[in-house]
Amino acid sequence: MVTVEEFSEILRILESRYRLEIPSHISEDPFRILVGTILSQRTKDEITDSAYKRLFEKFPTIESLANASIREIEKLIKPVGFYRIKAKRIKQVARIILEKYDRRVPKDREELLKLPGVGDKTADIVLSVGYGLPEIAVDTHVETIAKRLGIAHERDKYMDVKKKLEELTPIHKRNIVNHLLVAFGKEICKKPKPKCTICPIKNFCNHYKLQTINEKITKNQNPDRNYVSFTRI
Ligand code: SF4
Repeated sequence: MVTVEEFSEILRILESRYRLEIPSHISEDPFRILVGTILSQRTKDEITDSAYKRLFEKFPTIESLANASIREIEKLIKPVGFYRIKAKRIKQVARIILEKYDRRVPKDREELLKLPGVGDKTADIVLSVGYGLPEIAVDTHVETIAKRLGIAHERDKYMDVKKKLEELTPIHKRNIVNHLLVAFGKEICKKPKPKCTICPIKNFCNHYKLQTINEKITKNQNPDRNYVSFTRI
């Protein structure tokens, strides 16, 4: 269990290690953040960034994207994962934002979740990055780290992990938690093999404590092999 004070120290350590770097596909207005986040689902940042650039160079406005052909969107965003489905969703989203919301991306979680291709993570990224609201977006890095640290349980779902992290984070810091944990997850707390020996927050980590205990038990069960010798029969 990580306390509020401990989590604040974890954030301090990570803040001193990482500069705040937002990928270019989520650095502009809420509509572009929304489209960029749909593109980024199951796709690497570099691939998302270039698809995002090609797409908005050709269709810079909500209107132009809403009127674009799906075939053309597909060509521009390929090779992002599931580009055919995403092309369809992006066009639908543009049309809905244009016709139902008068060009404004909803600032409301429930409304965002009604849009095609928008799940909890995408909604939280739009709310936190696009509108500066104190929401923590839980992606695969954030979820893994929260579970390894012992903040969340293995079986916890998206909203459980988000709630537990938000309870530990002062409101003015919630916006940076995703960015810090993503940077940390890419460099050190990797999936599937974290680099625990060089981890600057290992003293707070449940996974590390359990690993250390297991190693001690294994050592005790296997007495020093140097004392064991074998003779050829
Ligand atoms: S000690 Fe290992 S598992 Fe724990 S946070 Fe650090 S890298 Fe991740």
